[in-house]
Amino acid sequence: MAGINCIGILTSGGDAPGMNAAIRAVTRAAIYGGLRVKGIYRGYRGLITGEIVEFKTQNVSNIIQAGGTILKTARCKEFQTPEGRKQAYEMMQKEGIDALVVIGGDGSLTGARVFATEFNIPIVGLPGTIDNDLYGTDRTIGYDTALNTIMECVDKIRDTATSHERLFFIEVMGRDAGFLALNGAIASGAEAAIIPEISTEVDQLSELISNGFRKSKNSSIVLVAESPVTGGAMGMAERVKNEFPQYDVRVSILGHLQRGGSPTAADRILASRMGAAAIEALLEDQRNVMIGIRNDEIVYVPFSKAIKNDKPIKRELLTTLRTLSI
Ligand code: ADP
Repeated sequence: MAGINCIGILTSGGDAPGMNAAIRAVTRAAIYGGLRVKGIYRGYRGLITGEIVEFKTQNVSNIIQAGGTILKTARCKEFQTPEGRKQAYEMMQKEGIDALVVIGGDGSLTGARVFATEFNIPIVGLPGTIDNDLYGTDRTIGYDTALNTIMECVDKIRDTATSHERLFFIEVMGRDAGFLALNGAIASGAEAAIIPEISTEVDQLSELISNGFRKSKNSSIVLVAESPVTGGAMGMAERVKNEFPQYDVRVSILGHLQRGGSPTAADRILASRMGAAAIEALLEDQRNVMIGIRNDEIVYVPFSKAIKNDKPIKRELLTTLRTLSI
C-alpha cells in the first residue's frame, strides 16, 4: 500500500454541509484500515503553519449531523506559491504524513493537483461544494442540502410574492454553474431559471417576458444564478425596470444561508460513501484522483478531468421547467 502509514485530512475553500460527515468517514475508514490520521486545521494554511492534531475515532463523534467543517476552512494565498507549497511539504514530512485527503471545490483540488505533482505525494480529493460544478461526478457533497435550503426559502418568498402580486428574482449561489438555480426552480415550482450555461445563446429575460408569465398565477418567481454572465438578480431587476416597467419587481439574494445547516440524508450518505472510498483508493495506490459518484457507483476521476472540464447541465431540465410553468 505504497508505504502509507499516516494520512492527513483537510477541508479547503468554501464550506459545504456534509464536510463533517466526510471527515468522519475518512477518519474512521482510515483507522479501520490500520492507518493513523491527522486533522489539518484551516485548509492549506494549517498545512503550512502546522495546525495539525492526531485524530482518533472519538475526534469525529457526534459531527455527522453538523453543518460547516470542524476542521475549519480557509483560503490560502501562500499555497499558490512554490515557496508556500515547499513549506507545506516540509510540514508533512515533519508530521509524518504520507498522503492527503483534500475536501473542497475546484480551487482546492487544483491546489491538490499542483502539490501532488510537484512533490510526488499521494492525494485523493473529495468534491465538497454546494455548487455541484465538478466534472465527473453526478453530485458533490453539500449540493443536496443547499438545494433543499433554496426550496424552503423560495416556498417562503412565494407567500409574499403571491400576496403582493410581484415578480421576484431570487439569486442563488453556483459560481458560474446553473445547477442550484435550475433544479431549485424545478423543486420550488418557480417560473424560470436564469443560468450562465445558456446566457450567451439566448436572452433568457426577453424570452421569459415575451412568453408571458404564467397567466393562471398572480405572482412570478425566477431563480437567477449568481454570475457575471447572468448579471445576477440585481442585474435582471435593473433590466426589467428599464425595459419592462409595468412589472413590480423585487430581488432577494439568498447568500450564505445556502451554505449552512445540517446536511440532508442524501449528503450524509454521499459523504460517508465518498470518505470511505477515499481511503480505499489510497490503499489501492490510487493518487491524484477525485472520488466521484456516477449512476450510484463510486468512480475515480483524475484531477485533470475533474478540474479542467465544465460539467454540462441537463438540457432536458430546462424543457421540463418550461413545460411545467405554463
Ligand atoms: P474552492 O475549493 O471552494 O473552489 P478556492 O477557489 O478559494 O475554493 O480555493 C481554495 C484554496 O485552494 C485557495 O485558497 C488556495 O490555497 C488553493 N488553490 C486554489 N487554486 C490553486 C492553484 N492554482 N495552485 C495552488 N493552490 C491553489
